[in-house]
Amino acid sequence: MSILVLCETESGNPRKSAFELLGKAKALGLGTVTALVLGPADGASVAALGGYGADSVVHYNAAALGSHTTGAVVKALANAVAATGATIVLASATQISRDALPRLSARIGAGLAVECTDLRNDGGTLVGRRPIYAGKALVDVRVSSRVGLFTVRPNSFPVAASTGATAPVTTSDGGISDADIDVRVVQTLAPESKQVDLTEADRIVSGGRSLKSKEQFDAVIRPLAAAVHATPGASRAAVDAGYAHHGDQVGQTGKVVNPSLYIAMGISGAIQHLAGMRTSRVIVAVNKDADAPIFQYATYGIVGDLFEYAPLLQREFEKMLA
Ligand SMILES: Cc1cc2nc3c(=O)[nH]c(=O)nc-3n(C[C@H](O)[C@H](O)[C@H](O)COP(=O)(O)OP(=O)(O)OC[C@H]3O[C@@H](n4cnc5c(N)ncnc54)[C@H](O)[C@@H]3O)c2cc1C
Repeated sequence: MSILVLCETESGNPRKSAFELLGKAKALGLGTVTALVLGPADGASVAALGGYGADSVVHYNAAALGSHTTGAVVKALANAVAATGATIVLASATQISRDALPRLSARIGAGLAVECTDLRNDGGTLVGRRPIYAGKALVDVRVSSRVGLFTVRPNSFPVAASTGATAPVTTSDGGISDADIDVRVVQTLAPESKQVDLTEADRIVSGGRSLKSKEQFDAVIRPLAAAVHATPGASRAAVDAGYAHHGDQVGQTGKVVNPSLYIAMGISGAIQHLAGMRTSRVIVAVNKDADAPIFQYATYGIVGDLFEYAPLLQREFEKMLA
């Protein structure tokens, strides 16, 4: 069996999610692990993927892959599956793979299991565990086609330190040219904040409608998030009221997150919010209503006023993480 891991890059360097997937792919013990890097990337950091579990690296460095347009990514993935003889493809559940893998699935006739939160080797077959019905149930899925595609939510697996090994890199244009681009990216605007993106954040502090104004959201949630070394998030009610940006929204119509720690400040725990954060490893909820649904899912709960507890938590985290 041969596993191909799509390793996404940012500014030419592999993203954390690439290390997570490579480590897990190796630990599965199902066969050789090939890292696939698309677009221009730093040669040394590509070879260094060997330290995270890649036996070899295929680097398609065609300029056309630099902007990750869907058509070109799908073609590159199909070419890489054919070139490596991969029987399993792993990718992080990001915008790129959400676009590309369903198309790849149709193009090469491969079954697809999306948004897995765990993977295991079951007698030589890969089984993915994924939430369904907005996280109300978990199912174990096997893919019966010759090639199986699996996307995995970021932060599902820990990242082990690099062993320092390097992997042999095969570099080519992967058969991709400008003719494969059907959508051109004319400008990329970097986000104002340097915070870790919500979908990749290891810690998140979210605020709800209870914050009552943008000023209070900024004065209570953002400093608490900074103290926790977390990315701020918000419920849809808070976003609709203008307290936070739409990009901060967690939930069914916002971002699906999977952090180690999710702190919900004054959020009721509506099913649509839970759909986006229920798989978080540790959930802490502060809510003044003891019957708020969020408490059914919280690892730790505080029944109380967030305006009282936020500064206390902030002070303790500042001391702890100073
Ligand atoms: C199709 C659809 C899609 C949706 N998508 C999303 C989505 O992606 N994300 C999302 O979040 N929602 C989504 N929603 C909305 C969702 O149903 C809820 O309305 C929303 O999540 C409620 O946000 P909230 O918990 O901040 O507000 P509320 O439900 O108003 O809850 C506020 C909570 O704060 C508590 N509270 C009030 N004051 C304090 C205080 N001082 N201290 C402590 N606690 C306090 C209250 O007890 C209450 O539990 C969607 C809805 C629909 C219909």
